[in-house]
Amino acid sequence: MRVTIRKKRWELVFRNLRNQKRRGYCEAPHEKGKEIVVDSRLRGQERIEVILHELIHSAHYSLLDEEFVETTARDISRVLFQLGYRAHDEREERDDEE
Ligand SMILES: [Zn+2]
Repeated sequence: MRVTIRKKRWELVFRNLRNQKRRGYCEAPHEKGKEIVVDSRLRGQERIEVILHELIHSAHYSLLDEEFVETTARDISRVLFQLGYRAHDEREERDDEE
């Protein structure tokens, strides 16, 4: 899906990143057809965390404080997860288990 962050547009896509060491990445704001990519295999809080992580990079791409991005994304994802936020498909999966 197309997302707009601070007036710049990215294509947010979920793709299997099994051949890479990273769980997601964000291409530079000045690139044409830039993407934010999140590993499609992620579920639950980790999925929310990586989406937030890459969105924070997109919002402040020149910020090189990876520890700040990492910690902020993890903390906010924990709060959202505790509040019950889930992807649609995961909600269905969870219902199946009950
Ligand atoms: Zn990062």
